[in-house]
Amino acid sequence: MTCLECNKELGYLDHKNSMEVYGVELCARHKTRIDRLIKSNNTPLAAIRLYYALKEVGVYPMLEWWDGKKSIDIAISRVKLNIEIDTEYQMLTHEQAMNNLEETMHSFQNGFTTVRIPQVVIKHYLRETVQSILGIIEGLKVNIKVI
Ligand SMILES: [Zn+2]
Repeated sequence: MTCLECNKELGYLDHKNSMEVYGVELCARHKTRIDRLIKSNNTPLAAIRLYYALKEVGVYPMLEWWDGKKSIDIAISRVKLNIEIDTEYQMLTHEQAMNNLEETMHSFQNGFTTVRIPQVVIKHYLRETVQSILGIIEGLKVNIKVI
């Protein structure tokens, strides 16, 4: 049991606190950092899970990356991939859907690809989600080389 951020050995309580809330192993200091991030950005829990799952397979994701206009849940800057977690998928209004489409358009125009992932998918298919994102990263790498 060690912290995923700093490899610090975790005591029983630190391990329990962090696993119960985030499902990942974090020391008290790094859990507090994530707590603050969530508080100020309203980051979905699924984003935290996915962030650490991506780190584990050697991707270098950034959590709550500011793109100049808004905070992106997870960004993989090397291939200009933005990942947004949809939390209220079933309650998506047509205005929200239109906003999402426009945001996707703007990010494409700036050379970024935006992928929207419903949080339920991360909750139930974390491994498969990670595999799909790895596939997207591979595809983007090929496209970047062509340009
Ligand atoms: Zn730590």
